[in-house]
Amino acid sequence: MGLIVFILGLFFGSFANVCIYRLPKGKSIVYPGSFCPHCNKPIKWYDNIPILSYIFLKGKCRNCKKVISPRYPVVELLTGVLFLLIFKKFGLFVSTPIYIFFSLCLIIISFIDIDTFLISDIIVIPGILIGLLLSFLFPQIHNMNRIEGFLYSFFGTLLGGGILIFLGIVGKILFKKDAMGGGDVKLLGMIGAFLGWKSVFLTLFFGSLFGTLISLILILLGKRKIEDYVPFGPYLAIGAFISIFFKSNYFLGVILIN
Ligand SMILES: [Zn+2]
Repeated sequence: MGLIVFILGLFFGSFANVCIYRLPKGKSIVYPGSFCPHCNKPIKWYDNIPILSYIFLKGKCRNCKKVISPRYPVVELLTGVLFLLIFKKFGLFVSTPIYIFFSLCLIIISFIDIDTFLISDIIVIPGILIGLLLSFLFPQIHNMNRIEGFLYSFFGTLLGGGILIFLGIVGKILFKKDAMGGGDVKLLGMIGAFLGWKSVFLTLFFGSLFGTLISLILILLGKRKIEDYVPFGPYLAIGAFISIFFKSNYFLGVILIN
């Protein structure tokens, strides 16, 4: 079953690639089918199999021989691995499809943020509502009753959005420039809606930690300058993934809250 979930993840990763490429351009994600971004030729189904086609085609378009970005198979593999990890953790429980859906949204949001420095409202606003609704319908994912589950998620949204608005104001006073984008506020609100208010602290802690570490490494390697704008969405997503796996075990969250 793990293998089936992993392969399913690869195909959803392929769909994520379509969303990442088309949503910022305002194009339909269902029609037309996949095409080469260089020569616009439609890609045949047998050249569109996750990972395998990339390997068989040696990373080049069959028609124009231009290089296909290695990011496509990377996103597919990442999605497959995350689906598998979630399945391994939660098994045949309602949490599995919910967190699989949530992680797919985070992958799409993160790569669009990397490309465009924008967090798509088209995913994050419905995402907040879906997170709240799922916590009400399936409060067992939080180990709570219906009212508790909904409030846990509702305060997660308020806290997630609220913390970043607060940090944004502090940052503006200290550094005299916008430190936090409105998209990040909504994204942490969505993460709070899915994972509950306790996970907001954990997400922000790990998100900031990874954001700082990776930025430092990139600056030391000379790939980024200190004053460059850093998209925070992918780091919040990393923080959220870690929070999913710490969910049954709040020790870090408790330390942070205390
Ligand atoms: Zn081509």
